Amino acid sequence: MTDLVSLPTAELCARAAGKRDARFGPRVTYSPKVFLPLTNLCRDVCDYCAFRRSPNDEGAHTMTPDEVRAALARGRDAGCTEALFCLGDRPEARFPSYVRELASWGFSSTVEYLVWACGAALEAGLLPHTNAGVLTRAELSRLRPVNASMGLMLESTSERLRGPGGPHRHAPDKDPEVRLAMHEDAGALRIPFTSGLLVGIGETEAERVDALRAIQASHARHGHVQEVIVQPFRAHPRTRMLRAPEPTDEAHLRAVALARLILDEDVTVQAPPNLSTDVASLLAAGINDLGGISPVTPDYINRDHAWPHIARLATACEAAGFALARRLPVHDRWRTREFVAPELFARLLDRAAA
Ligand code: SF4
Repeated sequence: MTDLVSLPTAELCARAAGKRDARFGPRVTYSPKVFLPLTNLCRDVCDYCAFRRSPNDEGAHTMTPDEVRAALARGRDAGCTEALFCLGDRPEARFPSYVRELASWGFSSTVEYLVWACGAALEAGLLPHTNAGVLTRAELSRLRPVNASMGLMLESTSERLRGPGGPHRHAPDKDPEVRLAMHEDAGALRIPFTSGLLVGIGETEAERVDALRAIQASHARHGHVQEVIVQPFRAHPRTRMLRAPEPTDEAHLRAVALARLILDEDVTVQAPPNLSTDVASLLAAGINDLGGISPVTPDYINRDHAWPHIARLATACEAAGFALARRLPVHDRWRTREFVAPELFARLLDRAAA
């Protein structure tokens, strides 16, 4: 592969768009979802995170089973197909009050609660996708029969970010080796998997290339990485990185193009439209997907960045020469008996047909 980092942005994007066109054509997808932040308690502290809370913080919340059921019903009634469970990393390791709360509902761990919540989503006619941070192979195995797909953002392979002054210095779960090990476990278990980069938290472009190559290497071994999110850092109020510079649009677009060029042609490259100023530029840099978009719940991770209205997004895509289409949380190529748990296969085919 040529030295991609040395390419001018226009050439990088043109090459990426060409590779995307050859595989996906003028079609860009999104997943209509309901977002369930099962708990915002997290044992880690990342300097940029506006989602995380400790139990006594204002806004700390773990959804009750009734709240889960109500959110799922709202999502189903609004025509969503995906139930996204996104939550903090292993809060039971740090917060006894959380353990007591789970126990009062009859659950002994976050994963046990997730298994129940994913089952409730399936009963409501939705397909679960879980991102619960770092999980063991045994935990992934337990969640596989109730999840259409799962994910963990690699974010970065830069060890510097975990050092003094780095945004991950208080986040043991952001150890790149730990996160890559979970990519391997998900591959071994044949789980359709979502990874991603977080762009602009102190890493260099060469380190972004390194992270993308690490994701691609795991995918080359197991064939399980169905999509990679290229998410720009956004500075949020009440975080330590409130005044940190956000990545430039050019840096983000270059990361998108690098992802498209480094990853296998079948792997979907995704960028969130609510964190980017311009969908046309994202398309020109090689994305083929806009991720999950919810008609009923906010982006709890980036609460100050509302999702765009689907009709407006479709118009913007059309103006750039692309048709916007719905998709399921499992991309077409991974909708096979190898990658979908037997418990879910018929259900998934039904949803695809619908
Ligand atoms: S980014 Fe994830 S791991 Fe880091 S503090 Fe927020 S919820 Fe926890």
